[in-house]
Amino acid sequence: MAAFPSLRPSSGFAPALSASPRRSSSIPAALLVRRHDISAVSLRSLSGDRLGVKQRGMRPRSSGDPLGICCASSSPVVEKAAAAAGSKVSTVVDVDLGNRSYPIYIGSDLLDEPDLLQRHVHGKGVLIVTNTTVAPLYLDKVVQALTHGNPNVSVESVILPDGEKYKEMNTLMKVFDKAIESRLDRRCTFVALGGGVIGDMCGFAAASFLRGVNFIQIPTTLMAQVDSSVGGKTGVNHPLGKNMIGTFYQPQCVLIDTDTLNTLPDRELVSGIAEVIKYGLIRDAEFFEWQEKNMQALLARDPSALAYAIKRSCENKAEVVSLDEKEGGLRATLNLGHTFGHAIENGLGYGEWLHGEAVGAGTVMAVDMSRRLGWIDDSVVERALSILQQARLPTGPPDAMTVEKFKSIMAVRLLELFPFLNWLPKSCNPNQFISETLG
Ligand code: NAD
Repeated sequence: MAAFPSLRPSSGFAPALSASPRRSSSIPAALLVRRHDISAVSLRSLSGDRLGVKQRGMRPRSSGDPLGICCASSSPVVEKAAAAAGSKVSTVVDVDLGNRSYPIYIGSDLLDEPDLLQRHVHGKGVLIVTNTTVAPLYLDKVVQALTHGNPNVSVESVILPDGEKYKEMNTLMKVFDKAIESRLDRRCTFVALGGGVIGDMCGFAAASFLRGVNFIQIPTTLMAQVDSSVGGKTGVNHPLGKNMIGTFYQPQCVLIDTDTLNTLPDRELVSGIAEVIKYGLIRDAEFFEWQEKNMQALLARDPSALAYAIKRSCENKAEVVSLDEKEGGLRATLNLGHTFGHAIENGLGYGEWLHGEAVGAGTVMAVDMSRRLGWIDDSVVERALSILQQARLPTGPPDAMTVEKFKSIMAVRLLELFPFLNWLPKSCNPNQFISETLG
């Protein structure tokens, strides 16, 4: 399909995309692919909005920066402070949200540092929410970390069935049952121990139990460490749509013990890499280039490559969330590939494809749509495809997802999901355009 020159972003729009000093204009991917999904309109609406970003060690805000974006970075200052305290924390990334700000601790063996957890526990009651796979691996360690030298705390746990298909209301009720049976009060703390499914459900439970209690994230999958544990999106699926019921609710801290990845199956690791790739594509050109050179090291679980990818991903997510917590605009760029990906997860049945696998295929579709819109050229498409292939992620939807199936899942909100389709020239039918991308 021919490009639509009239749809090319205006010159007023472009600088906002290259505002961060970290981004290099030499990588079109990082500058252009992000215009997919609902980000195009939203970013423009953000341009007058100068939300403050305060990151430990952030680079000075450039006066020419139309969005006021500054890059989060793991500053030497923070690293020195952690080392001086004898801590194993190699990096602290702050999510700056005023009085709801919180640290993300990243390092090896952090579950053996009781103080890190205990300093964020409120009250005397703790409820650990985990699942049947993670509990045998890490529950005892976390209980030990919470209770070591802290005899007054009472720790309960609820072990949920494992799987995306259990990310729903009935399973959530088990958390409330346990909390009420344990007579937890408003000053208790919920701890999410597991992957994104547990984190999303525990966060939603914490947001609603007694109208909101303290909450800590201990993510144990790469997906959760680079994405879902940061930023406060919580919730459950509905049979008619993924993550349709939920709320924004920020944790007190996120504790990432990178050693927990040692037990993660390869397929789950690869699923998490889909979100790592996303940050490179939407906003961090240097990181994208690093991934192109280091994908094999990531797949081989090289500890320093993994630690770097987690750190850099958290920095990117923290920065976006600090600027746009409730997804009024900029945060929608984090949904690259998710609009199609969520439809795949829903259409196949939750859990058939892993979240990152669906996002991988969805990213290729999003990139294809961006090319059709004339926003990116073939070289960007090739690089996006190549990095996903290197990561061994799916690069197309499964056969079961026919055009009709996509449409029936997405139809209700099609123009809401892709508002820029309203700008297509009159001669162009949005439905036909969508069909060509899906087909
Ligand atoms: P998951 O939580 O299902 O975990 C994947 C599998 O790994 C599960 O079987 C789990 O029990 C197992 N596991 C977890 N940690 C392990 C470990 N250390 N060793 C061995 N096995 C381990 O899936 P996920 O990929 O972590 O997360 C996907 C979910 O996250 C989806 O529901 C998605 O919607 C959500 N998500 C949310 C956000 C957000 O911003 N809230 C962002 C991205 C994804």
